[in-house]
Amino acid sequence: MVALDLGGWSDKRKTILIVAALAAIVVFAVVAVIISLSGSRKMSEGWEEVHFLCQETGERFLVKYPELPREYVEKSAAGQMVFLDCPKCGKKSCAAPAIRCPNPECGKYYPRYYRDAAAGEVRLNVRCPHCRTVPHKWHREHKGG
Ligand SMILES: [Zn+2]
Ligand SMILES: [Zn+2]
Repeated sequence: MVALDLGGWSDKRKTILIVAALAAIVVFAVVAVIISLSGSRKMSEGWEEVHFLCQETGERFLVKYPELPREYVEKSAAGQMVFLDCPKCGKKSCAAPAIRCPNPECGKYYPRYYRDAAAGEVRLNVRCPHCRTVPHKWHREHKGG
């Protein structure tokens, strides 16, 4: 006979079992939430701060995403190459957002775009000015590695 017979168990014991099962479920849910929270926190880490480079002095500084001027956020979201008023040298629209070279042998920060004074226009840095690495090409060639 494999029939489930808990008749021999006291009601108290059954209650304890149910409470233990519920507690296990709650603990599991809490752990799952903590894991998912820490995971999403890690994912968004890179977006909490933006690196900028001063065009005048070459200094790098960080701006927290919520502290960026609204005008800057709106224009850059629209795909415009905008500059930030620089807290380093005090000049207006002097600092450009920086990206880090993906090449581990280089790893330098460089401006995403820069103002070419001679040409009188803003130019995109397609490749790292230090080691000539092209980020999107590099990522494609080093997938999974
Ligand atoms: Zn500056
Ligand atoms: Zn580089």
